[in-house]
Amino acid sequence: MASVSIRNVRRRYGSVTVLHGIDIEVADGEFLILVGPSGCGKSTLLSMIAGLDGISEGEIAIDGRVVNDVGPKDRDIAMVFQSYALYPSMTVGENIAFAMEMRKVHKAERDAVVERVAGTLQIGHLLDRRPAQLSGGQRQRVAMGRALARNPKVFLFDEPLSNLDAKLRVEMRAEIKALHQRLKSTIVYVTHDQVEAMTLGDRIAVMKDGRVQQLGTPQDIYERPANLYVAAFIGSPTMNLLPVRLRAESGHWMAELRSGDSSVRLPLAPAGHAATGEREAVLGLRPEHWRLTEESESGALAVTLQLVEPTGADTFGFAEMNGQRIGIRLPPKPMRHAGEQIRVRPDLASASLFDPSTEQRIEL
Ligand code: ADP
Ligand code: MG
Repeated sequence: MASVSIRNVRRRYGSVTVLHGIDIEVADGEFLILVGPSGCGKSTLLSMIAGLDGISEGEIAIDGRVVNDVGPKDRDIAMVFQSYALYPSMTVGENIAFAMEMRKVHKAERDAVVERVAGTLQIGHLLDRRPAQLSGGQRQRVAMGRALARNPKVFLFDEPLSNLDAKLRVEMRAEIKALHQRLKSTIVYVTHDQVEAMTLGDRIAVMKDGRVQQLGTPQDIYERPANLYVAAFIGSPTMNLLPVRLRAESGHWMAELRSGDSSVRLPLAPAGHAATGEREAVLGLRPEHWRLTEESESGALAVTLQLVEPTGADTFGFAEMNGQRIGIRLPPKPMRHAGEQIRVRPDLASASLFDPSTEQRIEL
């Protein structure tokens, strides 16, 4: 096991810069996620840790040793790719044992490792098959088995579950998490799937256009997104981002939120005595941060549901507010229907605020 230090790492292809100064310290035993949309530079960064891609600037250290000039074979890492990259002409057992064979590990020891790994991943009955004779999920397990057999300092995963169907993806996700808890191995795991990121990671680096937008625990990132991009990227249904006007009034910041003809004034944080004036802001509210209220309550907004989506455990309603679609988590009962009007009040203690011009989080 080992730490991974990524210090001011840049990657250029000709005149195009795809990674702009990445700084991430992955602790020994940590499960770190790189998440972001396609093309943001996740695989490039992972390949640089693996040594498969060169570093234009900055440095990467594994277990305290700078590896910029160390070849992939000498970095003591194992990588699992989305495509699995199994050797088609070898059996499952041979695939798992291959790296040990290259290192001239004795057959008895190789067999013992293959047996142990196959047991862990429940693929003991598949050892004599070739990759073509396996399902996608089984190939995925073999690819993981090959990585486990190397007992590396660091595991690197590049979208390992993307080719699996939804049910299997959820199962494998749980297995990878359990495996990490058992082995306490250092993992850097790339995904574009925010649910995978939230459920697996000890910490998450949210990336966009070759930059880390926020690095934090899943809870940090969900509850206190650093900017509008992260706010909108993490969470489903997405965080509601509502334009408001902030005003300092008699020791309190108030947010004015309009919906059609009605508007409500919402007390936010206490303001210092010196605080004066007004500013535009964006109020970020997750769908679960609305409270349904009764007719009479002040601070409530009337909205008409346009769509109701039961997902089993939760039901989400969608309504329009100033031409913007907003999501509201609804209590399971009574079942609501499209066309119904409801009254909602934001739970301000859980709200986030952003500056509309810089798009950064603001704290009052
Ligand atoms: P992700 O894995 O997040 O989808 P990648 O790391 O694969 O993104 O790619 C990041 C960016 O780098 C993309 O814009 C991609 O087109 C570019 N890129 C990747 N490899 C090369 C290459 N060999 N030459 C030029 N550009 C590349
Ligand atoms: Mg990729």
